[in-house]
Amino acid sequence: MSGRDGPAPMLIGGKPRPGSDAPLRPVNPATGEPVQEIAAAGAGEIDEAVRDAARAAADASWAGLVPQQRAAIVRGIGDRIDAQAAHFAEMQMRENGKPRGECLAQARSAAATFRYYAAVCETLSSEMPPARGPYVPLTVHEPYGVVAAITPWNSPLTMEAQKVAPALAAGNAVVLKPSELTPSVALALGRAAIEAGLPPGVLNVVPGRGAVAGAALVAHAGVKMVSFTGGTSTGRQIAAVAADRLLPVALELGGKSPHIVFADADLDAAAEAVCQGIFEGAGQSCVAGSRLFVERDAYRAVRDRVVARARSLRVDLPDAAGVEMGPLVSREHRDRIERIVASARARGARISSGGARPQAERLRAGAFYEPTVVEGIANDDPLAQEEVFGPVICAMPFDGEEDLLRQANDTVYGLAAGVWTGDFRRAWRIARGLEAGTVWVNSYKHLSIANAFGGFKQSGLGREKGVAGMRLYQQAKSILFGL
Ligand code: NAD
Repeated sequence: MSGRDGPAPMLIGGKPRPGSDAPLRPVNPATGEPVQEIAAAGAGEIDEAVRDAARAAADASWAGLVPQQRAAIVRGIGDRIDAQAAHFAEMQMRENGKPRGECLAQARSAAATFRYYAAVCETLSSEMPPARGPYVPLTVHEPYGVVAAITPWNSPLTMEAQKVAPALAAGNAVVLKPSELTPSVALALGRAAIEAGLPPGVLNVVPGRGAVAGAALVAHAGVKMVSFTGGTSTGRQIAAVAADRLLPVALELGGKSPHIVFADADLDAAAEAVCQGIFEGAGQSCVAGSRLFVERDAYRAVRDRVVARARSLRVDLPDAAGVEMGPLVSREHRDRIERIVASARARGARISSGGARPQAERLRAGAFYEPTVVEGIANDDPLAQEEVFGPVICAMPFDGEEDLLRQANDTVYGLAAGVWTGDFRRAWRIARGLEAGTVWVNSYKHLSIANAFGGFKQSGLGREKGVAGMRLYQQAKSILFGL
């Protein structure tokens, strides 16, 4: 379905703009029904958006603001998201199928991200290190100019706030290219920013295809920094273009995170968190705990609890009361996961729960897949090495700390990990031994805008979030006054 007046336009220079590429046709993955068509940017619109952003970044109406004025606008964007949280949540739910409650929580959290960076913008100081001679040394932090922000479909509300808020707080203009599967939230964010008083052109939103709009954006000479979240192979392509241009990049990429349970842990709490860590968002989370390692003595007890919980999990339409897991983002993605599980089965894997589509009639048209627990494979099996990005967990036993660390770190990824144990000294040893950007101890998936976030190894480059997350979008300049 397209709007009465054709595809919803993109936003360039504060004005609605049609696109020259074929419109995007997002589909509601819960029902298979089309959602609002969206204009898609070609290279021409990308060029226009970057030029507009460059003009806006240099204009006194933005560049001339002192931090508390910039902060007031950034805070205002958060307030507008909060006021329209239900609407933002609805848009994300229709395009990516996450349960309504989860979408609403992400909308509130996106609003809080803008408020957090407003506070950082207003309070973060320049530095005056001790002088080492007859001069006054200062270091100030300046925006890059135009930042390109490129986001995935799994949590657009969270990812887009996490990039746009600090990049604006830092004084940049932003060209935001959302995923072709979930373009609506970004457009609503662009409108909220205009309502909050952001000068036109400081945030341009250009939905479009990765190979067309995304590639044109990264290659554009007017873009001075790229902040990307998505798959590792796309991240590698972007890094290659950026290397050639000597362009700073921040990359938040894939993961294959280990969730570890020692025999001395609270096994009930651990099993519940293991299920939440993989099945929330139908496993379409970069930090999904997709490899379960259990100390051999407790293997059967934990595995039984996880399998029982996976079987009892309520898979339903994302707006159904009591829903715990919605559909995958698309039928193509569901079909891909089915093929991955089938090939593991052909290699001898046991499917202890799930491994099929739910049978309920009301779920037939959607991209649903059951919570799936796989056993009988080793950590070097492709299912334990490759990111599935779905509700599939492989359970594997381990024998002692050394064996655990060897297996847990035997992956190209290093985004996150969880460890459950009653022994705090062991928790510390394991947390320090894991190659991961975030480690949860006796918890999983507590995410805070105040903590640095990013990946070791092929899970990424750079760190978003936290106070330093604003510095990601600035370059330091030292100024020394001779006396
Ligand atoms: P993707 O890499 O296919 O796409 C991400 C974005 O990049 C989209 O907007 C897409 O249009 C764009 N794109 C594609 N090709 C491009 C190109 N050549 N140049 C520029 N842009 C291009 O990823 P996806 O399928 O949308 O998202 C799932 C992936 O994202 C998973 O691997 C997941 O782990 C990862 N992810 C990582 C984090 C994190 O913080 N580390 C968070 C969420 C998702």
